[in-house]
Amino acid sequence: MIIDVHSHNFPDPIAGRAMAGMIRACSGFLTSVGDGTLTNHLDHMEHDGVDKAVLCQIATKPTQFEILFRTACAIRDGALGARAQRMIVPFPSVHPKDPELFAHLDQIAEAGFRGVKFHPYYQDFLLDDPSVWPMFEKIADLGLVVECHCGYDIGYPDRSDACGPKEIAVLLRHVKHLTFIAAHLGGCAGFAPHATDPLLDLGCYIDTSALARNWYRDEEMRLLRSWPTDRILFATDFPWTMYSEAIRWVREVRDPRDWEAVFSGNARRLLGI
Ligand SMILES: [Zn+2]
Repeated sequence: MIIDVHSHNFPDPIAGRAMAGMIRACSGFLTSVGDGTLTNHLDHMEHDGVDKAVLCQIATKPTQFEILFRTACAIRDGALGARAQRMIVPFPSVHPKDPELFAHLDQIAEAGFRGVKFHPYYQDFLLDDPSVWPMFEKIADLGLVVECHCGYDIGYPDRSDACGPKEIAVLLRHVKHLTFIAAHLGGCAGFAPHATDPLLDLGCYIDTSALARNWYRDEEMRLLRSWPTDRILFATDFPWTMYSEAIRWVREVRDPRDWEAVFSGNARRLLGI
């Protein structure tokens, strides 16, 4: 079984525009392997033998909660097809400045969703800012998992202050019972070698989505090779990486005895599936 804990797709009417905007923002450094639609995502998953994928939504404004939550519920209820209901695990998104933040987090938990996704750059906050810690306390109390963009973002090349290893560590030192998956191998890209390693003692998980694989290959390889099996979760950031390529990379680096845990076992445990 293969579970991808970090992927994206968009409602059909906006998928083309959303993808074009992101590709433009990354000034040619990022090319997509899919068209950004749900159907295309499911087709790629089926083709490459991926059983389930966490759909990471991102509310870039507080008002986006409702529409994203409705889409997540539609997937959960089968309104967007039986394939989506079976294969997609929606992670809704709240904006830290949402005036109804806590009520919306309750709503997410009550609806049976397993986690929430954050992207500090797109949502304009810092993980080490004490004003967001009550939100993460609440998330932890609700038993929700956090999947968070970490480290360098190609769309924000001049910034490294929001969600690098240092900021993650500050957050996890203050919100001790939080289940936190740090995307992109703990945000290692753009930081000194071994910068992510202190997160091991803080209970942090990392995902294997490594968009900058070719640029920071040594450090990403080292992390994937050396972190304990029970702390690594397979992820792709699809549609920015081919499933076949992401699967091959993890299989090449990790011992076959680790595959069950990394590809699905750890995700099943954290997500309760
Ligand atoms: Zn992503």
